[in-house]
Amino acid sequence: MSTYSTEKLHKALQHFFGYDQFRLNQLPIIESVLEGRDTLAIMPTGAGKSICYQLPAMLLPGITIVVSPLIALMKDQVDSLTANGIYAAFLNSSQSPAEQQSVIKNAEQGNIKLLYIAPERIPANSDGFFTFLEKLNPSIFAVDEAHCISQWGHDFRPEYLKLASLKKRFPKVPVVALTASADKVTQNDILQRLELVEPRVFISSFNRPNIHYYIQPKKNVFGHILEYVKKHKDDSGIIYALSRASTEDIAGRLHEAGIKAAYYHAGMDSAERSRVQDAFLRDEYRVVVATIAFGMGIDKSNVRFVIHHDVSKNIEGYYQETGRAGRDGLKSDAILFYSPGDIMKLKKFAMVDNNPQQSAISMKKLELMQEYCEDEGCRRQFLMEYFGEPFPAYCGSCDYCLSSLEEKDATEDAQKLLSAVSRTGERYGAGYIIDFLRGSASEKINPAHKELKTYGIGKGLKKEEWQWMVQQLLRNKFLSISNDQYATLKLNEKSWQILKGESQIKLVLKKEKAQVTDYDESEFDHALLRELKNLRTDIADREHVPAYAIVADNTLVELATYLPQKFDELKHITGFGDYKVGKYGAGFLDVIKQYAAEHNLESKMHFKKPKKERKESRDTREKPAVNSTQKATFAMFNDGISVEEIARQRNLSPITIEGHLAAFIATGELDVYRLVSKDKLEEILKVIKSTGQGFAAKPIKDILGDDYSYGEIKAALEYNRRMGNL
Ligand code: ADP
Ligand code: ZN
Repeated sequence: MSTYSTEKLHKALQHFFGYDQFRLNQLPIIESVLEGRDTLAIMPTGAGKSICYQLPAMLLPGITIVVSPLIALMKDQVDSLTANGIYAAFLNSSQSPAEQQSVIKNAEQGNIKLLYIAPERIPANSDGFFTFLEKLNPSIFAVDEAHCISQWGHDFRPEYLKLASLKKRFPKVPVVALTASADKVTQNDILQRLELVEPRVFISSFNRPNIHYYIQPKKNVFGHILEYVKKHKDDSGIIYALSRASTEDIAGRLHEAGIKAAYYHAGMDSAERSRVQDAFLRDEYRVVVATIAFGMGIDKSNVRFVIHHDVSKNIEGYYQETGRAGRDGLKSDAILFYSPGDIMKLKKFAMVDNNPQQSAISMKKLELMQEYCEDEGCRRQFLMEYFGEPFPAYCGSCDYCLSSLEEKDATEDAQKLLSAVSRTGERYGAGYIIDFLRGSASEKINPAHKELKTYGIGKGLKKEEWQWMVQQLLRNKFLSISNDQYATLKLNEKSWQILKGESQIKLVLKKEKAQVTDYDESEFDHALLRELKNLRTDIADREHVPAYAIVADNTLVELATYLPQKFDELKHITGFGDYKVGKYGAGFLDVIKQYAAEHNLESKMHFKKPKKERKESRDTREKPAVNSTQKATFAMFNDGISVEEIARQRNLSPITIEGHLAAFIATGELDVYRLVSKDKLEEILKVIKSTGQGFAAKPIKDILGDDYSYGEIKAALEYNRRMGNL
């Protein structure tokens, strides 16, 4: 059993990293590691895997060894830790032998808490390496990107196989394996290959609520991108394009328009690639236009947007790429410009020579990507269900959910469209049919067709409206489409029912399609935010670390919102742990104070809720209700009257009174320690955790016996609930 109470872990999180809350699953994973259990943590990118081994590393004596395949990421992690005052270092092939020697010496002298090692550093005969590790007497092994050990994963690295004997050599040292790769086969493979002993497995939801998904028709793409990037002038982002040439072209045009943009693709030499990557991390480039290779190894938490100039080859790739936005939890946009033509192009590449099986898989994945783009429903629901997670039909933060919708009788328009298909002989795709309906003068329209009565009968609707109609008819099977590259529209039985007037059709129409919306700009001071960012850049340059390693964007946004002007106010700002307050606090305070003086502004810290309570109070639905009889009890208790006495006066049982009081723990108005001692609370929380029993007091009382009262157990249950542990 771990000797770390939930409270102590919260404190440590705040102290070392300046965060006020654990994110989902971080706490149980950390507890599992601290209990010495082998642990597999599956969390989507950006969910916060690193804390899961970094926090235990800080609490346990000795060194934690982290195996990570991504050299660039390693340096960032070490920089971020160092910025938090934590001794960390790495060993990889980018260092000179002298540098490596010095790291090794430091580790042996016990001066390093976290040592990152690239798998290629482990010699083929891993024995010597293990002997080196033995000398260090590690307390935890963390295996990052653990899917690399599996051939089933999408990124198999043979060097990872060397880790297989780790457990044999160090049976007592817990291994925590972490990955964002979800599928079941890979999971089991990781457990087996690492030979984890009675592992605990934690799988987090793949939903990324702060990312807003938009799919827009691919028209005047560059114009839209430029407008977006200009509008979000303080934000950085990644634009993905399929070809190297188009990355260069787009970056060039952005550059001409005065945007600090660069391109990145596999055709560049590696020095140039790392230059671009580093400059992006330091916010010297605001936008990087890249092929999918970019972003693999970067951990930039303030990527505010990911734009897909071209459609992705599959949903896994798309989701991973969009997932590079918003790792700091702030609202971010994922925008994809879709054209069915892009799918056609990609279909050609999906064919792998001499491998019909592989070709079929790629083709199927591409078709699902197309389905996603053309789907008329909540984007997030589609994505979540694709990854096997049930999700409601409304998320409120995708282009579909943000559009205003209207149901309309569309029988007449549908008849026009279907008869156009019929009159032209069911031999054309949607583009031609729509041009024909709208009476296009184009030479592409067969002159004989221009003589038909249906030619031009659809002038009343815009091209996009007809496109929408085609999609809706296809979706509802009122129209068919040929399964070849020509995508010819065909009539079916249901089409004829409409044409003959035997059946009516109602379609959901988007009245106003949601566009990529802007941020809530009301609350923070933009000019001040820019000044704070400048200061951060200066510090980052001086310390040779990426800007976000100093403090994250949301920390700066909070500063620019609440304008703290005293040292101890800084502690209440997210991301300011004790170390950072000491190291950087004064500098940021100076900027804020000066700015506030110049603009006649005062601190708004009194508007800021205490860190712990912020999350709960934002979500009003979850705020537990208390009734008047509970309030009466609480008032008496606050007057110093004992539980027994309140029970006597109110003619209720003490158990009932204790229940009343527990309700105020849930609302945060009553300190839990007034009802239960610290030691007892810890014991009860342990039982709650081990039984998974988070609501009923009786089963817990049965285990703990007479030393614990119902009141104490109820108080602990409420406290546990309040901490969001169940
Ligand atoms: P992953 O490795 O899962 O992609 P990281 O460990 O890099 O994610 O974390 C993503 C971002 O979230 C980082 O900027 C990290 O500092 C931040 N973060 C992690 N845990 C928390 C937390 N409990 N509260 C606030 N921010 C967090
Ligand atoms: Zn939605």
